[in-house]
Amino acid sequence: MNFSEFIEVYASHPNYRAPRGNQLHAKSWQTEAPLRMLLNNLDSEVAENPEELVVYGGTGQAARNKEALQQIIKELLLLDENHSLLIQSGKAVGIVRTHPEAPRVLIANSNLVPAWANWEHFEKLKQDGLMMYGQMTAGSWIYIGSQGILQGTYETFMACGKKYFNNDLKHKLLVSGGMGGMGGAQPLAATMAGATFLGVDIDPERIRKRLHSGYIDQIVFTYREAADLALQAQEKGEAISIGLVADIGDTLQNLLNDGIVPDILTDQTSAHDPLHGYVPNGISLEEAFSLRKADPNKYRELSMKSMARHVGLMLELQKLGSITFDYGNNLREMAKQGGETNAYDYDGFTPKFIRPLFCEGKGPFRWAALSGDPNDIYATDQALIEAFPENKEMINWLKKARERVSFQGLPARICWLGMGEREKAGLLFNDLVKSGKVKAPLVIGRDHLDCGSVASPNRETEKMKDGSDAVSDWPLLNLMSNTAGGATWVSFHHGGGVGMGYSQHAGMVVLADGTDRAAECIRRVLYNDPAMGIFRHHDAGYEIATDTLNHFGMGLSI
Ligand code: NAD
Repeated sequence: MNFSEFIEVYASHPNYRAPRGNQLHAKSWQTEAPLRMLLNNLDSEVAENPEELVVYGGTGQAARNKEALQQIIKELLLLDENHSLLIQSGKAVGIVRTHPEAPRVLIANSNLVPAWANWEHFEKLKQDGLMMYGQMTAGSWIYIGSQGILQGTYETFMACGKKYFNNDLKHKLLVSGGMGGMGGAQPLAATMAGATFLGVDIDPERIRKRLHSGYIDQIVFTYREAADLALQAQEKGEAISIGLVADIGDTLQNLLNDGIVPDILTDQTSAHDPLHGYVPNGISLEEAFSLRKADPNKYRELSMKSMARHVGLMLELQKLGSITFDYGNNLREMAKQGGETNAYDYDGFTPKFIRPLFCEGKGPFRWAALSGDPNDIYATDQALIEAFPENKEMINWLKKARERVSFQGLPARICWLGMGEREKAGLLFNDLVKSGKVKAPLVIGRDHLDCGSVASPNRETEKMKDGSDAVSDWPLLNLMSNTAGGATWVSFHHGGGVGMGYSQHAGMVVLADGTDRAAECIRRVLYNDPAMGIFRHHDAGYEIATDTLNHFGMGLSI
């Protein structure tokens, strides 16, 4: 198949789809893999808005524009194993001489010198065609749809249940805003954890997308109906999810007026981006689209004022007893700038629930089957269940995921694994490819939201014990370790999750193609990557990290 035929079949804008099966289009699996994952990120089953090349998280893109995308595809089809492709904010800019165990693609997205690192400067560069927003896994080509955040969300809700509700979320009402790419995982995670869920989104299409993927149970259009359904389900202890088309601020106000206090309250609107992510209170979606273009400053101002009100209402509900936490969208900061001086009076999810896992090198390990065959993922599920009989939580998760998660795009799986476990799983997967038990290679990656890959003081590194929240040497060391270790593609981004100026983070994907070369790369990368989380948390003074470091004999020589 020549280049134009390839584009016609797999990338005729905006109908993108990764090739399936075990026939190569590129020169080797090392370049076929990023090619398929790039196209998979843009598949309409996966991406929130393929027309704009937007994958998730507000404006998180996979490539800068249509022309840049075609150029990347062309380069990946031609690249050999002694060269690597350079991507600068979603555009191919050069090829460098490397070697077969080096990453085939080196990606840098949305990075700005700190004093210029704000949305205003970024927007100007974007308008001039010089940059794109890469979010975390959008510009680094390892987004796998809402499942990518599903287990993390499930673990967070379960941890909340353990800490505050005697390990039982039955008869508990969980309320959240934002049913987009990531936020859309909340309804399924909540019902998997046993809670009743009310999710609010201003855009009906976003809730319909979750209905289609089986992540949410029903859509309603009036507050009254939503509240009645939620209260009945909560009373009966039914784990069902309801999606209400409305503004989240108005809904929280209505709940307060009616004296309905959610047991758990959080939010995943795209608050990190007050211009393109959050829709201000009191205007329709259509009005929002036109105001965004006509008067961006006014839009931003309205947006931040609405967020101040939104957080003010969350604080009131917290006072009445709702367990309230920030879910990684920088809502508190935007609300503070919008006038809510007490915005930080509730904690973020990392210090509240997740940090102990990070101290063990645990994080959102994920993999995708390049064959496109769901049976390949079921084979990996089974192999993990057999290889980790002692890990009951993981087995429980994999069984639930198989029952409840429908795949979007290439079949994929997420499963939080820690130090030692990731390397073991990766080698196991490489053996499955080698022995032909799966039909084509697998790619193994993760979110940038991981134990040692991100500096984000309002999120992953909030309230670090030693005050090192804003130190971004760590994600840079993570990037360098994974590059030196031989990941198949690596990335370094700015602004993911929480927006410009608030985070820096690194990503990696390593290929399991059944070769000895892949086994060596996997052994190094899947050691280095979780090790960074342990080094980072040990250095910050966390005992669990020090214990894990000692357990694995990873300390420096004395
Ligand atoms: P998205 O842009 O796909 O979805 C955001 C949704 O919020 C949209 O559906 C939009 O209609 C809705 N919305 C905006 N304003 C609203 C309002 N006033 N009332 C009701 N709904 C409103 O984004 P996403 O991928 O779902 O990510 C959501 C946020 O979470 C982002 O800020 C992202 O950076 C962050 N995030 C968090 C994590 C995490 O681990 N907690 C991970 C990834 C992303």
